[in-house]
Amino acid sequence: MNYTEGKGWHDPRIVPYGPIPMDPSCMVFHYAQEIFEGMKAYRTQDDTIQLFRPQENFKRLNNSCERMVIPKLDEDFLLEALKKLVEVEKDWVPHQKDTSLYIRPFIIASDAVLGVHPAKTYIYAVILSPSGPYYKGGLNPVKIYVETKYVRAVRGGMGMVKTGGNYAASLIAQEEASREGYSQVLWLDGVERKYVEEVGAMNVFFVIGDEIVTPALTGSILPGITRKSVVEMLKEWGYNVNERRLSVEELEAAAASGQLKEAFGTGTAAVISPIGELKCNGKVTVINNNEIGPISQKLYDHLTGIQWGRLPDTHGWIVKCC
Ligand code: PMP
Repeated sequence: MNYTEGKGWHDPRIVPYGPIPMDPSCMVFHYAQEIFEGMKAYRTQDDTIQLFRPQENFKRLNNSCERMVIPKLDEDFLLEALKKLVEVEKDWVPHQKDTSLYIRPFIIASDAVLGVHPAKTYIYAVILSPSGPYYKGGLNPVKIYVETKYVRAVRGGMGMVKTGGNYAASLIAQEEASREGYSQVLWLDGVERKYVEEVGAMNVFFVIGDEIVTPALTGSILPGITRKSVVEMLKEWGYNVNERRLSVEELEAAAASGQLKEAFGTGTAAVISPIGELKCNGKVTVINNNEIGPISQKLYDHLTGIQWGRLPDTHGWIVKCC
């Protein structure tokens, strides 16, 4: 689908996957005016295809549009168009257990102009790609490197929107962490470099005593849809969940006193990802003996149960495509 100033969004169409012809001066190449989303379609046991909270993705897409000065889209239309697309391409939704069809909607500024201002033309497109299970040998705790040198986002910046620049800014830290044997980076706040924010492509939760803490959404953290769903489930189950500031110091002290019971990340790709180890300024903190905790496991079972239709959708989170 295209956007042209004065005409609005127009010409929605389904075309085979392939290159998009683009002018070398295209604004997105130079000024990074672009946004994207990530979601999945799941095949259930009775062979229907369903989406998990897609309305939330389109709401977040429009929030990203606002920050990046991209014209907003009609969310109901986007959902209907996506259902149609998935229905047309339903054979690509894999059949094997724990596999899904990854869905990547994105918008790019397409004016061929060298000059810094919002574009007057855009392309909205959706890529579909079958994806295998995230954990091939079952749920495995990940090792996380607490980043103290670089920052990913600051308040007032773009941290709360899904735009490529945030991920470009994080590449160097990701490279350095993986050289040290850590699979992901845990970002701290950009001002005091003290408070936990989020992991590369996941929000984070920590079980401290009888409290479950996730960093509050202060503007530099992406408001994850999995995070929102996990907070709702935990509250329903009667856990004491708090969205608040949490420093690395507090985490290390909780670990030293035996109060840090579990940690896990949440995201569309990773679902629930137990965290077994944190390294901050050379200091290693092992969590739950590097094993999967009971809360992580319970959340994983419930969330995947709802997504693949093995458990009833009591929250109204599922949208059927076909
Ligand atoms: N934070 C970042 C930076 C991410 O890229 C993602 C993945 N979209 C998340 C958190 C988790 O968000 P969601 O649960 O909506 O996938």
